Amino acid sequence: MKILVLNCGSSSLKYQMMDMETKSAMAKGLVERIGLPGAMLTHRPKGGEKEVIIADLPDHTAAIKLVLQAVIDPNFGVLTSLEEIDAVGHRVLHGGEKVSGSVLVNAEVKQAIEECFELGPLHNPANLAGIIACEQMMSGTPQVAVFDTAFHQTMPPEAYIYGIPYELYEKYKIRRYGFHGTSHKYVSQRAAVVMGKPLEKLKLISCHLGNGSSLTAVKYGKSVENSMGFTPLEGLMMGTRSGDLDPAIVPFIMKKERISGDAVNALLNKKSGVLGLSGVSSDFRDLQKAADEGNYRAQLALDVFVHDVKKYIGAYAAILDGVDGIIFTAGLGENSPLIRRSICDTLGCIGVSIDDEKNEAAVGQEVDISKWGARCKVMVIPTNEELMIALDTEEIIQKM
Ligand code: AMP
Repeated sequence: MKILVLNCGSSSLKYQMMDMETKSAMAKGLVERIGLPGAMLTHRPKGGEKEVIIADLPDHTAAIKLVLQAVIDPNFGVLTSLEEIDAVGHRVLHGGEKVSGSVLVNAEVKQAIEECFELGPLHNPANLAGIIACEQMMSGTPQVAVFDTAFHQTMPPEAYIYGIPYELYEKYKIRRYGFHGTSHKYVSQRAAVVMGKPLEKLKLISCHLGNGSSLTAVKYGKSVENSMGFTPLEGLMMGTRSGDLDPAIVPFIMKKERISGDAVNALLNKKSGVLGLSGVSSDFRDLQKAADEGNYRAQLALDVFVHDVKKYIGAYAAILDGVDGIIFTAGLGENSPLIRRSICDTLGCIGVSIDDEKNEAAVGQEVDISKWGARCKVMVIPTNEELMIALDTEEIIQKM
């Protein structure tokens, strides 16, 4: 089976052409600057040279048309015709409360995505545009929507309800949704394989640490807590996002700086986090370099980040009533032995003890980095959201 995986952002689009026999990408690529001057597609066939195509791409329909042309191009394409594509799997940010799993796209699903435009204003309209464009160009090819929020719909009310008047939840559905669900689901399934135990018997904490970061408590295969909230702004301090803060700070900044609510929202999403705190960069590699050179604010940003992750791990250990395994994934979690060591160095109280040599060597592979006999395993598991989307899509198509 061949599945096209699409991840549409507001002005970008990532794609992978997946071969489900080998569970690997035949080609992957990125379209940037959709709707802007200088739009371009970068296409990478497996084992081949990258191909860059500059084109005028006014909208997602034009971008997807170009992707489909690239996939069947006689020189650098990987298929002979679009008929070879059995299904399209779409990453969709927000499914609200209606969606608790991946679903075959129909009119009702499209309406559910549209109803969440206000909850995911940057992503949901682009996700729907991608689905509609595929329907127009590949009519008859089944499409599946895989939601970032769906995995977290198993959270119990005490984990997702905020301490505000209940009527606001009823009226506007203000509650914790949780994000990065596709990644947390994938790595927790892989952790069970690495541990050689059934997922249904494990209590896991999944740490997705990248530019955006979140933690999930996974109990017996189900998400019971996620550090992100109503939007992906809550939780850990991130690359440019503030994470948790006292809500009273928002009106305080509005008054003192004489700026609007929207401006504060932008400040908290785009100019805060380790970028705002350090004044150096949102990239942890730049931060580490600056900290090594003695930059106090860069070191402070790293320290706050590590402190935040530890705090959530402690909280989730209490929620889970014990932890069998901790997973590190995403750009930082997979690639920074230093951050992993700094986080783990005071977690002996929950049975964590990592092997320094294994930790240093673990880059880009699934590996257990705990010391022999440690009560709580610590694993590095590279995330693969595209494969998870393709696997969910395959499962749904096979049931049709
Ligand atoms: P992601 O959002 O998952 O792509 O992660 C991106 C972030 O991972 C970047 O901002 C970097 O800060 C971080 N990262 C990637 N590689 C490394 C590395 N080798 N060491 C430290 N941080 C890294």
